[in-house]
Amino acid sequence: MKEKINTDKLSACEKLELVKKGKLSAEENVNYFLKKINANNKKGKNINALLQVNDKALLEAKEVDSNIRRGKVLGNLKGLAVAVKANILVKGLNASCASKVLENYKAPYNATVIEKLIKEGVVVTGMANMDEFACGSSGETSAFGITKNPTALDRIPGGSSSGSAAAVAAGFCDFALGSDTGGSIRNPASHCGVVGFKPSYGAVSRYGLIDLAMSLDQIGILAKNVADTKKVFNVIRGKDEKDATTIEISEEIKKPDNIIIGIPKGIKADKKILELIDKKVKGVCGKYKWKEKEIAINYIDLGIQTYYPINYVEFFSGTRKFDGRRFGKKIEEYCGKEVLRRILGGEMIAQEEFAERYYKKALDVKALLVKEFEKAFEKVDLIVMPTVPKLPHKFGEKISVEDMYNYDTLTVLANIAEIPAISIPAGKIDNIPVGIQLMSGKGKDLFLLEVAEKFEK
Ligand code: GLN
Repeated sequence: MKEKINTDKLSACEKLELVKKGKLSAEENVNYFLKKINANNKKGKNINALLQVNDKALLEAKEVDSNIRRGKVLGNLKGLAVAVKANILVKGLNASCASKVLENYKAPYNATVIEKLIKEGVVVTGMANMDEFACGSSGETSAFGITKNPTALDRIPGGSSSGSAAAVAAGFCDFALGSDTGGSIRNPASHCGVVGFKPSYGAVSRYGLIDLAMSLDQIGILAKNVADTKKVFNVIRGKDEKDATTIEISEEIKKPDNIIIGIPKGIKADKKILELIDKKVKGVCGKYKWKEKEIAINYIDLGIQTYYPINYVEFFSGTRKFDGRRFGKKIEEYCGKEVLRRILGGEMIAQEEFAERYYKKALDVKALLVKEFEKAFEKVDLIVMPTVPKLPHKFGEKISVEDMYNYDTLTVLANIAEIPAISIPAGKIDNIPVGIQLMSGKGKDLFLLEVAEKFEK
């Protein structure tokens, strides 16, 4: 008889070993997650990480198993389960963007990332909750109810990929996909105690992603650890003829010897968070004989002022397709407050008399920040800072728009500079997970993941 394996504690990489040895089937793996989702997603703890469960998941898992049995080569991620943010198209499932506007919109085709994952034997367990149209940092703007933080049920999970992070933390999937325009993967990863990786701009195809701000958006991965993240990234990355912005990243990986870690001057965050990050950096430097170096990056304090005008204008422009005729309902009539704020604000600052002052100015500062980060990476291999400058608030706490936007001060920088960035758990403060954020030069994603693994140990 086959021994019963407790898959709860296993990473995706460990499971792949078991699948290879015939000790774990896709069906068993997916079935386990479905049971857990059934018990905790809406009932039980009511985490509400998934808006929709894929009712064909078990069938698809059985298909994967039968393909394995028939010796059909099935690639690198056989039998793993993924939860997908509800703004990435999975054929036949709802890509609602957690909005009433697209409430019943069924995706007519698969996003490139989904095609790639399915080809490697991955099964989609469900569509993950999020801030409406990915606008937010708390998960509270979803039209279909808040997502709870599985590690601290009375607190926000972060956002906007709130359901993706919570699904990984709650054990509803092996890994999840999210999108990150200004931190939406790294922010909830930090608050939920999981790994969140935003690749270089263009490293992963965005074909089939419902955009928030085209020049900043990136699809990325949320997972239990860096090794799993790397495994998935190697499957989904690469040039795609359906997305003209895609690039091939560097295959060359600098050996993680003699690493110089850059600590930017003037990073503002809660004192306890800064102390925790500092301790982590000192620990890693001691262990691997790496060096720490303070660096000055001009305009690093202008992230929010640069990010939001670009976000508003590009979002406003992108939402003109939701006119109530082609897909969904007319956006202004059915969206929530934050989305409306961006549409109206974006429309205003896109107008000629304001464009110079806000949008074009923001683009100019973006170009400067790209250069500043390039210069910084001539001196250091890595830049390190907290992922989020403060702890997640409790549900019901009143937060001003400004405070909400300020959650993003340290994550927007990587989107503006187009570089890869990853958040990994650094420890806990008052029992709440806190993430440390690592960044490397554009296209050096593989190096970043290599070094992140060292931080993890
Ligand atoms: N919190 C940021 C915003 O609301 C980031 C969103 C994102 O990365 N999708 O714009």
